[in-house]
Amino acid sequence: MIKNISVIGAGTMGNGIAHVFAQYGFKVNLIDVNPTQLQRAMATIGKNLDRQVAKGTLTEEQKKATLDNISILPDVSEGVKDADLVVEAATENIDLKLEIFRLMDLGAPPHCILATNTSSISITKIAAKTNRADKVVGMHFMNPVPVMKLVEVIDGYATSKEVTQTIVELSKQLGKIPCVVNDYPGFIANRILMPMINEAIYSLYEGVAGVEEIDTVMKLGMAHPMGPLQLADFIGLDVCLAILKVLHDGFGNPKYAPCPLLVNMVTAGKLGAKNGEGFYMYTPGSKELVVSSRFK
Ligand code: NAD
Repeated sequence: MIKNISVIGAGTMGNGIAHVFAQYGFKVNLIDVNPTQLQRAMATIGKNLDRQVAKGTLTEEQKKATLDNISILPDVSEGVKDADLVVEAATENIDLKLEIFRLMDLGAPPHCILATNTSSISITKIAAKTNRADKVVGMHFMNPVPVMKLVEVIDGYATSKEVTQTIVELSKQLGKIPCVVNDYPGFIANRILMPMINEAIYSLYEGVAGVEEIDTVMKLGMAHPMGPLQLADFIGLDVCLAILKVLHDGFGNPKYAPCPLLVNMVTAGKLGAKNGEGFYMYTPGSKELVVSSRFK
């Protein structure tokens, strides 16, 4: 029976995951090594709850109860010791995740399920670093978590059927729609999305069209709610690059090679909406577009 949930990483995804679990009555420990991120996450959750209250989908009492369900902590080992489930949503970096899973495995009770929100890193590889590979599973939420219905549930090589089923049922309890997939590079969501984003960046790099033209063609022509370049900005260009590298390494196929423009932008620290500039410019810390694009 899952009651206590720890969420590791309070960035773009971690704050949304903590928000949703807390809204549905779970006790949540939100953990991040960076105290500023924890403060920022609580402010974001507060703002998003206010929006739900204004829309009439949540009452003031429910908002307060949601906030009361969340505690913030800086330390992984301390934060997971009473957990029934840990959802890791730290930076997309394999060495970092392996170290966090080592700490989670040591610190969490034996019955605890260890899930990762990774966009692309092998669940099987992460599980192999723990002493409970049968209890390691992918629980891949979509951004923004409180809004998006899909949870991609990823079965590692050793994940037990019971653990997969628990995560499927839990996702439904959160009002989400789970989809179970097997553990191969990029799973399903990013195996299909990232090559499309990369091709959009190549189209810009090769001068086929400008940022707005590329996004407009995909929005109006394919009925996508958002163009691929703006979506890349919202996901984070560092996250996109990390996923493309996993696809490239995992399949050994040059079709997944990240576009040099994406590599350059990440090297220059242009990470998208989260720090104010990607393919478009944003008010830092918000998704509000201030000027369209520096690429003309
Ligand atoms: P982010 O950069 O916004 O946040 C990552 C957070 O992890 C930061 O707050 C950082 O301080 C924290 N962190 C780093 N090292 C840590 C440690 N040792 N212990 C605790 N916290 C630590 O990243 P994000 O976009 O939220 O992505 C998090 C995960 O979710 C990644 O695995 C990513 O692939 C996945 N994901 C991202 C998206 C997206 O749209 N951004 C969608 C689905 C899944």
